[in-house]
Amino acid sequence: MDAAFDVVVVGARCAGSPLATLLAREGLSVALVDRAEFPSDTPSTHIFQNEGAKVLERLGVLDKVLASGAPWIERNDSRISHLRHADPIPRRPDDPGTWLCVRRPVLDTVLVEAAREAGAQVLTSTRVAGVVERDGRVCGVRVSGEGGVRLLAAGLVVGADGRGSAVARSAGARSYNLIPGQRFGVWAYYEGATWSPPATLFFHRWDDELVIGCPADSGLFLVAAIPPLERLPSFRSDPDGFFDAQLAACEPVAATVAGGRRVGKLQAMLRWTGYFRESAGPGWALVGDAGHFKDPTPGQGISDALRQAERLASAVVAGLGGPASLDQATAAWWRWRDEDAAEMAWFAGDLGRAGPVPPVLVEMLGELVASGGVASFLDVMNHRTKPSEVLTATRLAAATGRLIKRREHRRSEILRQAKEIAAEELRRQWLNKHPAYAGSGGPVGATQPQEGVVSPP
Ligand SMILES: Cc1cc2nc3c(=O)[nH]c(=O)nc-3n(C[C@H](O)[C@H](O)[C@H](O)COP(=O)(O)OP(=O)(O)OC[C@H]3O[C@@H](n4cnc5c(N)ncnc54)[C@H](O)[C@@H]3O)c2cc1C
Repeated sequence: MDAAFDVVVVGARCAGSPLATLLAREGLSVALVDRAEFPSDTPSTHIFQNEGAKVLERLGVLDKVLASGAPWIERNDSRISHLRHADPIPRRPDDPGTWLCVRRPVLDTVLVEAAREAGAQVLTSTRVAGVVERDGRVCGVRVSGEGGVRLLAAGLVVGADGRGSAVARSAGARSYNLIPGQRFGVWAYYEGATWSPPATLFFHRWDDELVIGCPADSGLFLVAAIPPLERLPSFRSDPDGFFDAQLAACEPVAATVAGGRRVGKLQAMLRWTGYFRESAGPGWALVGDAGHFKDPTPGQGISDALRQAERLASAVVAGLGGPASLDQATAAWWRWRDEDAAEMAWFAGDLGRAGPVPPVLVEMLGELVASGGVASFLDVMNHRTKPSEVLTATRLAAATGRLIKRREHRRSEILRQAKEIAAEELRRQWLNKHPAYAGSGGPVGATQPQEGVVSPP
């Protein structure tokens, strides 16, 4: 049987469920549709930061998430080339805590349940085939599930359906500012790991290696290796041996899990590409990964999805009153999303780049450590400081000068690196204002750019 709602949200994880919860609490009739059943996993590690935890607190679900036994991660132990440092993770007085690492079957199930309790109609094991449009406006989705194929009509359809978004595809949302990934991810969980408070996140990046480890929920310890794509053949020929060797190469993480035991299968995600997508049009919007994905190395996607959902809910409520005001509100939200995410997307691509970290960047970070400025760098991860506020042109020039003076590297090489970083920064600033589109427009056009394929939303 067909049904009608104010809003249909497709995808019920950290973008879709909070959005459905907040809209249902405002009295809107909301359908929350997912092809999955919960609890269920999704290929993702799951470290998120203060700002994400704050959204969980405002949603009223933080206690349930903490009941999983996930400790607050209060310290960051980082190694960037030869530079190793351990620092407290900055926390503001009104933060409920710092960082958390909660497996997705736990986190997403709490979020789906909150949506159900708020009054959203939750339809799991239900696949959305695409949007339905009438007179150039999206007016619902076609779904298939237990009840067969049917139409869910809606004043607004929100795609929170992740990277392969059916809503984005069928609405014709184009992608822009693509950043191809240069690494892949392999991760596993250990029980019986030995660590003492404060709970610490290890982020170790040396030569071409990158290993991350930290305590998660349910007494588990997460270990993730993020090697360059050129190592894929070695991984494929012996996944377990490959992972064990990566772990062994990162001494502090290996020592933490040495007395424990790996549980469950190795998990892997072998390719990703960062992108932005047009994220609003007549009767539709995209939130979370459906609208924007960035290299997962800095672990920003969950906090971003939660923050975006909260902000989109406010925009939708403010835009109620008619199709025109709703479309204006979602278009404004899309502009905010781009502004909010642009710098971090480039920075995430840098963190996930293959190859050793350029000495100029290591020198900049070294100066931050020496001058007590690490908190501002960690606040980049907290989405409270922009990368450009920390990795400034002045710092770049000073680091270049110091390196040239010390004569540890060829002068021409250092100058080349500095020039490349400065030129890349200019290119990024241009692309933030004049996006490079990857595909052509689709059937239910987004709030169209004014000057063809290179205009901002
Ligand atoms: C390898 C890897 C590691 C990561 N590590 C981290 C990390 O440590 N920290 C962090 O913050 N972020 C991390 N991320 C990013 C994070 O996983 C995402 O940003 C986050 O999951 C986005 O949530 P979402 O709700 O937008 O989408 P998703 O979590 O992808 O959820 C989309 C939902 O939509 C449903 N769906 C899709 N298509 C349909 C359809 N046609 N019909 C019905 N339902 C549909 C799916 O079943 C799914 O439940 C990582 C990502 C990857 C790939």
